[in-house]
Amino acid sequence: MSHVRAGGSSLELANAIEALIRERGGECAFPVNIGVNEVAAHYTPSKTDDIRFRTGDVVKIDVGAHVDGYPADTAATVEVDTKNFSALITAAQDALRVCIEMIAPGTTVSALGGATSRTIRAAGFKPVENLTGHSMEKFNLHAGLSIPNIETRDKAVLTEGMVVAIEPFSTTGVGKVDGSKRGSIYRIVRERRAPAEVTGLFEGIKRSFGPFPFAGRWCDALDPDAGQHLSKMVRMGMVMSYPVLTEVGRGVVAQAEHSVIVTKDRCTVLT
Ligand code: MN
Ligand code: MN
Repeated sequence: MSHVRAGGSSLELANAIEALIRERGGECAFPVNIGVNEVAAHYTPSKTDDIRFRTGDVVKIDVGAHVDGYPADTAATVEVDTKNFSALITAAQDALRVCIEMIAPGTTVSALGGATSRTIRAAGFKPVENLTGHSMEKFNLHAGLSIPNIETRDKAVLTEGMVVAIEPFSTTGVGKVDGSKRGSIYRIVRERRAPAEVTGLFEGIKRSFGPFPFAGRWCDALDPDAGQHLSKMVRMGMVMSYPVLTEVGRGVVAQAEHSVIVTKDRCTVLT
């Protein structure tokens, strides 16, 4: 967070964070997401569409690391040199803290959503209703359980030993994200018969990143023509690309996130 400053490059920041994860003996569980202002999620810099931070930007950094396939996922928000959105950022942090205090075996995901929504609305903002936290398992970043940011009818409960990422999003906008613009984050979908050079890159991706999401820019080390082959794999349905998710009302978005493990009577924060 301390490296986010006006004029700084999001590509350099992403590279530095990812290098740090690898230096410390982890692997990236997904490319570092750097979402500026109304960009809520799923943006990682590519080699060519690098962004430079500007004074007043609200920057979300969302980081995932795994060790032997066990992932952890965490995020925080910082504003570049100004304090116009401190209350928005604090609202997401407060919602996260309230959720962490509530978590124990038997806590319903809907109760967490309700608490998130109430905390963020009490601060005068909206929760993002179509982004959620998620359970995690070995080699699985989204292991089936969703933790909403609003109250729902979902009766699912947390149980001892579950690992979940809790990630409230607050916004000055309408409280919804969508996106159709292809980003630079990808994931393997299925194997298909393809030209040898495409299959070669597919195998390299599987070997290097397993089932976890990966960045287009990571593939250059595997194949100098990776960009071209990647586009082909997306067209063939071998790989999916995540669209960049932007706030529908073009509101500014803040995010806070921790991964926790549910213990016998509460939870322990892992990140
Ligand atoms: Mn995250
Ligand atoms: Mn997450």
